[in-house]
Amino acid sequence: MSKKLPELGTINVPHERSVPFGAITPAPVHQQDLFITSNWRIVRPVIDHEKCTRCLTCYIACPDSCWAYNEKEDMMEWNTNFCKGCQICIHECPSDALTAVPELDFEDGVVRLEKPF
Ligand code: SF4
Ligand code: SF4
Repeated sequence: MSKKLPELGTINVPHERSVPFGAITPAPVHQQDLFITSNWRIVRPVIDHEKCTRCLTCYIACPDSCWAYNEKEDMMEWNTNFCKGCQICIHECPSDALTAVPELDFEDGVVRLEKPF
Protein backbone atom coordinates (compact mmCIF):
# COMPACT_ATOMS: atom_id res chain seq x y z
CA MET A 1 0.00 0.00 0.00
CA SER A 2 1.37 3.41 -0.89
CA LYS A 3 2.29 5.81 1.84
CA LYS A 4 -0.27 8.54 2.50
CA LEU A 5 1.30 11.92 1.89
CA PRO A 6 0.46 14.86 4.14
CA GLU A 7 -1.99 17.28 2.65
CA LEU A 8 -0.27 20.37 1.37
CA GLY A 9 -1.94 23.74 1.40
CA THR A 10 -2.44 25.87 -1.65
CA ILE A 11 -0.99 29.26 -2.42
CA ASN A 12 -2.96 31.97 -4.14
CA VAL A 13 -0.59 33.31 -6.76
CA PRO A 14 -1.58 36.74 -8.06
CA HIS A 15 -2.77 36.49 -11.66
CA GLU A 16 0.01 38.75 -12.94
CA ARG A 17 2.62 36.40 -11.45
CA SER A 18 1.07 33.07 -12.42
CA VAL A 19 2.91 30.94 -14.96
CA PRO A 20 0.75 28.99 -17.43
CA PHE A 21 1.50 25.32 -18.12
CA GLY A 22 4.09 24.96 -20.87
CA ALA A 23 5.40 28.48 -20.42
CA ILE A 24 9.10 29.16 -20.92
CA THR A 25 10.69 31.35 -18.29
CA PRO A 26 14.00 33.14 -18.73
CA ALA A 27 17.06 31.60 -17.07
CA PRO A 28 18.37 33.61 -14.10
CA VAL A 29 21.30 35.02 -16.03
CA HIS A 30 20.46 38.65 -15.33
CA GLN A 31 18.51 40.65 -12.78
CA GLN A 32 14.77 40.05 -12.90
CA ASP A 33 12.96 42.94 -11.26
CA LEU A 34 9.93 40.86 -10.24
CA PHE A 35 12.12 38.77 -7.98
CA ILE A 36 13.71 41.60 -6.01
CA THR A 37 13.45 40.79 -2.30
CA SER A 38 10.89 42.84 -0.44
CA ASN A 39 11.37 44.03 3.13
CA TRP A 40 11.03 40.67 4.83
CA ARG A 41 14.63 39.45 4.91
CA ILE A 42 15.64 39.28 8.59
CA VAL A 43 19.33 38.40 8.26
CA ARG A 44 21.94 38.83 5.56
CA PRO A 45 25.14 36.88 4.95
CA VAL A 46 28.20 38.97 5.74
CA ILE A 47 31.47 37.76 4.30
CA ASP A 48 34.89 37.72 5.94
CA HIS A 49 37.17 38.16 2.94
CA GLU A 50 40.19 37.02 4.96
CA LYS A 51 38.59 33.62 5.57
CA CYS A 52 37.06 33.24 2.09
CA THR A 53 39.00 30.88 -0.18
CA ARG A 54 36.93 31.73 -3.30
CA CYS A 55 35.79 28.12 -3.50
CA LEU A 56 32.51 29.28 -5.14
CA THR A 57 30.35 26.99 -2.98
CA CYS A 58 28.10 29.93 -2.10
CA TYR A 59 27.77 30.76 -5.80
CA ILE A 60 26.61 27.21 -6.49
CA ALA A 61 24.41 26.86 -3.39
CA CYS A 62 22.46 30.11 -3.53
CA PRO A 63 18.99 29.51 -5.00
CA ASP A 64 18.76 33.16 -6.02
CA SER A 65 22.17 33.52 -7.69
CA CYS A 66 23.22 36.21 -5.23
CA TRP A 67 26.94 35.44 -5.16
CA ALA A 68 29.33 36.29 -7.96
CA TYR A 69 33.10 36.16 -8.26
CA ASN A 70 34.71 39.49 -9.08
CA GLU A 71 37.78 38.41 -11.03
CA LYS A 72 39.39 41.85 -11.04
CA GLU A 73 39.15 42.30 -7.28
CA ASP A 74 39.58 38.56 -6.57
CA MET A 75 36.67 38.54 -4.14
CA MET A 76 33.11 37.31 -3.83
CA GLU A 77 30.33 39.86 -4.23
CA TRP A 78 26.86 39.62 -2.73
CA ASN A 79 23.73 40.94 -4.44
CA THR A 80 21.56 42.61 -1.83
CA ASN A 81 18.57 43.02 -4.14
CA PHE A 82 17.78 39.34 -4.43
CA CYS A 83 19.06 37.69 -1.24
CA LYS A 84 16.15 36.20 0.71
CA GLY A 85 18.21 35.58 3.84
CA CYS A 86 17.66 31.81 3.63
CA GLN A 87 21.19 31.22 5.03
CA ILE A 88 21.94 28.26 2.76
CA CYS A 89 25.23 29.86 1.71
CA ILE A 90 26.16 30.37 5.36
CA HIS A 91 25.55 26.71 6.18
CA GLU A 92 27.36 25.48 3.05
CA CYS A 93 30.47 27.68 3.28
CA PRO A 94 33.31 25.29 4.17
CA SER A 95 35.49 28.08 5.58
CA ASP A 96 33.06 29.71 8.01
CA ALA A 97 33.55 32.90 6.06
CA LEU A 98 29.85 33.84 6.14
CA THR A 99 27.91 35.07 9.15
CA ALA A 100 24.18 35.79 9.52
CA VAL A 101 23.80 39.37 10.69
CA PRO A 102 20.35 40.82 11.55
CA GLU A 103 19.02 43.33 9.04
CA LEU A 104 18.28 45.75 11.86
CA ASP A 105 22.03 46.12 12.38
CA PHE A 106 22.35 47.87 9.02
CA GLU A 107 21.43 51.44 8.13
CA ASP A 108 20.02 50.16 4.84
CA GLY A 109 18.40 47.07 6.42
CA VAL A 110 15.28 45.92 4.64
CA VAL A 111 13.36 45.28 7.89
CA ARG A 112 12.34 48.83 8.66
CA LEU A 113 9.22 49.73 10.60
CA GLU A 114 8.57 52.77 8.44
CA LYS A 115 8.21 50.51 5.42
CA PRO A 116 4.91 48.63 5.03
CA PHE A 117 5.06 44.85 5.29
S1 SF4 B 1 31.50 29.38 0.16
FE1 SF4 B 1 32.62 30.60 1.69
S2 SF4 B 1 34.80 30.27 1.21
FE2 SF4 B 1 33.62 29.60 -0.57
S3 SF4 B 1 33.56 31.40 -1.92
FE3 SF4 B 1 31.69 31.46 -0.64
S4 SF4 B 1 32.21 32.72 1.13
FE4 SF4 B 1 34.14 32.12 0.13
S1 SF4 C 1 21.16 33.84 2.33
FE1 SF4 C 1 20.16 32.51 0.79
S2 SF4 C 1 19.46 33.91 -0.79
FE2 SF4 C 1 20.94 35.04 0.47
S3 SF4 C 1 22.90 34.81 -0.60
FE3 SF4 C 1 22.75 33.16 0.93
S4 SF4 C 1 21.87 31.40 -0.16
FE4 SF4 C 1 21.50 33.23 -1.39
